[in-house]
This record gives sequence, C-alpha cells and structure tokens, in this order.
Amino acid sequence: MIRSVKGTHDILPDQTWRWRKIESSLHGFMQKYGYQEIRTPAFEKTELFSRGIGEETDIVSKEMYSWTDQGGEKLTLKPELTAPVVRSFIQHNLGSQSSTNRLYYMDTLFRRERPQKGRTRQFHQFGVEVFGSEHPEADAEVIAISYNFFKTLGIDNLTLTLNSIGSDDCRNNYRNELRNYLKPFLSDLTETSQNRFQNNPLRILDTKIEHEKEILKNAPEIGNFLTVDDKSHFEEVKSLLNGLSIPFSIQSQMVRGLDYYTRTTYEISSTALGAQDALCGGGRYDKLVETLGGKPTPAVGFAAGIERLLLALELKPTEFNFESIQIYIIGLTEKVRSNCQVIAQDLRNQGFSVSTDLLRRSLKSLLREANRNSVKVAIIIGDDELANDIVQVKDMETGEQTTVSKNKLTEHLTDLDF
Ligand code: AMP
Repeated sequence: MIRSVKGTHDILPDQTWRWRKIESSLHGFMQKYGYQEIRTPAFEKTELFSRGIGEETDIVSKEMYSWTDQGGEKLTLKPELTAPVVRSFIQHNLGSQSSTNRLYYMDTLFRRERPQKGRTRQFHQFGVEVFGSEHPEADAEVIAISYNFFKTLGIDNLTLTLNSIGSDDCRNNYRNELRNYLKPFLSDLTETSQNRFQNNPLRILDTKIEHEKEILKNAPEIGNFLTVDDKSHFEEVKSLLNGLSIPFSIQSQMVRGLDYYTRTTYEISSTALGAQDALCGGGRYDKLVETLGGKPTPAVGFAAGIERLLLALELKPTEFNFESIQIYIIGLTEKVRSNCQVIAQDLRNQGFSVSTDLLRRSLKSLLREANRNSVKVAIIIGDDELANDIVQVKDMETGEQTTVSKNKLTEHLTDLDF
C-alpha cells in the first residue's frame, strides 16, 4: 500500500468543513479591514528564498524542498509567503498603483521539519502583508488583525510577545556586542551556531538548544542598542496597542526565524497548544522589497498556522455546524430510479441540496440512512406516483407524509422552510 508522505496529512470530509469555516471567517474578517487577497504559485525560483529569507536560517539551510527541473532551473516549493508576495508586488508594480497595499493570503507551505503535533511538512498559513508605510500605525494594524482574528474565533488564552530588533545601524552595533559576549562560549556552541557566529550572530538568538538558551540568558539586549528613531517607533507601536486594549509582553531576544525583519517582531501563542504553541509570527521588513530588486518600500506582515489554529479550537469547542443534505430522493422501482436524478437536478436548480441513492437500496434502509444523516425531507416515488405525476414527501422530523403533485413540489418544499 502506498501511504502519504511523512509529515503530510489528508484532510478528510469530517474535517474539511472546519477548514471552510476558518476560510470563510478569514475572508469576511479581512474585508472589514479592507485587505485584498493575493495568490502566488506553489513553487518559485530557489534564489527568491535564499536571498529573501537568508542563507543562514533553518528554513533555507535545511528545510526547503528544492529540485532542479528538466530545464536546469533551480526551484523550491514555497516554505513561506512573504518572499513570494514581495516578488509579486515588485513584478506587477503594485507599489505604483497605490501608496499603500494591504494584502492577505491563505496558502499551502512546505518545510522539511521534524514532524510532531502542530508541526508538519506540508502545512497551511494565512497572513497579511502591508506595503508602503513605515509608521507604527501599520505595525499596530497588522498585530491587531492577527490578535483580533484569534479572539473572534474564540481563542482566549492568547499571549502576544513583542520586540524591536531596530534598524540596520542598531543591529550592526548589536552584532558586535553579541559576538564579544559569545566569544568565550564559542567552543560550547553547536557547529551551526559557530558558523552563524561570524556570518549572522543574531540567528543564534533563535536557537532551540537548551544549553545555548542558557548561555544566551545574560547576553546583551538589543533593546539597549535601538537608535532614537527605533525607540520612538517601538514606543508608538506599544502605545497604539495599549489604545486598542491588546495586552503584550516584551521579549528582548525574539528575532524570529527569518532574516528579513527590521524593528518590530512579534509572536502570538496560546496555552491551548502544547510544545508548538506559536499561532502566528510576524513583524516589519523595511529592506526586503529592496533586497529582492524593488524600489525601497517599508512593509510589515504576519503569518499564522491554520493547523495550529484548528488545534487551539479543538480544545475549546466552538459552534461549528456540519450542514447536512436537505432532501433524499428515493425511487422504489427500477423504472422510477432514472427519474430520480432528473428531479434531483431540478430541485438543485431551485437551490435545494439533494442526494439520490447510488446503491439501489430498499426504502427501509434509505429512510434509516436519511435519519442518521439528519435529512429534512425524503421524497418517495413509486410506479403509481410516476404514472400520476405525484410524489410522497416525508417530513423526517415529524414522520408526516404528504402526497404532492410534481408541479407543486417546489412550492411545497419552500413552505416547509427548512
Ligand atoms: P513562520 O512562517 O515560521 O514565522 O511561522 C508562522 C506560523 O506558521 C507559526 O506560528 C505556526 O503557527 C505556523 N507554522 C510554521 N511552521 C509550521 C509547520 N511546520 N507546521 C505547522 N505549522 C507551522
């Protein structure tokens, strides 16, 4: 038997409705904020991610699904959405069409991570990217969207962790200080961190290794290296969040797993989740558009994992309802059966949801199934009914059965008001 690939999951029919619920909530929610949806291809040139996300990051250095295609082109299944959205923003010159672009997406991503609960190799994210504003209002809006969306869905136990990793000047100074601090511990660091020490020491702050986390506990804090402008930007973000009644805590070592961030970085987690408790992460990336060949454009965004969101909701049941089929059409004889599909098609055209039997089963077993599936009405047709252009309409809730002439059927069903 061929099984699905490790770290990938089927979403079966008893789960897909939960996904649709999230998807439709998201579209409605984003419309309230005036964001427009963007969709990008499933794969991109590998270079987009290595340049955009950073060679030293876990994603680029070890998690990408990349290959060389028949034409010799190096391609990668997208492991994140910001770089592709930025590519599209530049390619289609969206910045010249509007001074700010507020975009959102929902998509499938691929990272070769170690699978565990809440972490898979194919997963889904939704997120937003706002282009064109360097001001703290944009940061606050993005953070508020993520926070309020989780709240709207009924996830209460949210923790918002915030940081500013400053502008280039700030990080250049900080990098040197961090290297000075880490130098005596160099031999205790993992090989990966030792490599990062020279090229990209900030990456070390993102370590998942316990003894490295211990070493970093007394490391200098980037907050002390913010420039005057960085500081006032961060202060304004915080004060806007206070104004929006969004609680947060500051975590001065949060740099996040991607290299493109500048100034604001943040994460939202939920205690409803286990070890993989991050629901969403994001921040400002004022240099990425330029890095990828566009005109300098400040930007800020976030990405949230949909699997995680569903896990958080599973622990806190909400009012998801499965919509059952409304009408079963039951043909009692061979002669009638071909007619059932025609009636079903007519009723669907009138807006009803209708199912017919594909197994030529008996009336009894079909009524039993209709009950089990919470069907509202069974329409029963035998040879007599067919000959006289009538049908039997059985209300599955009350058990009441009515003879209805075929040309009055729509009217009758509409009156039932289910
Ligand atoms: P990132 O793109 O790494 O900033 O991640 C943003 C969010 O995506 C995380 O907070 C998670 O909710 C989700 N996420 C990231 N990686 C995975 C994964 N491998 N499986 C499931 N969800 C993930």
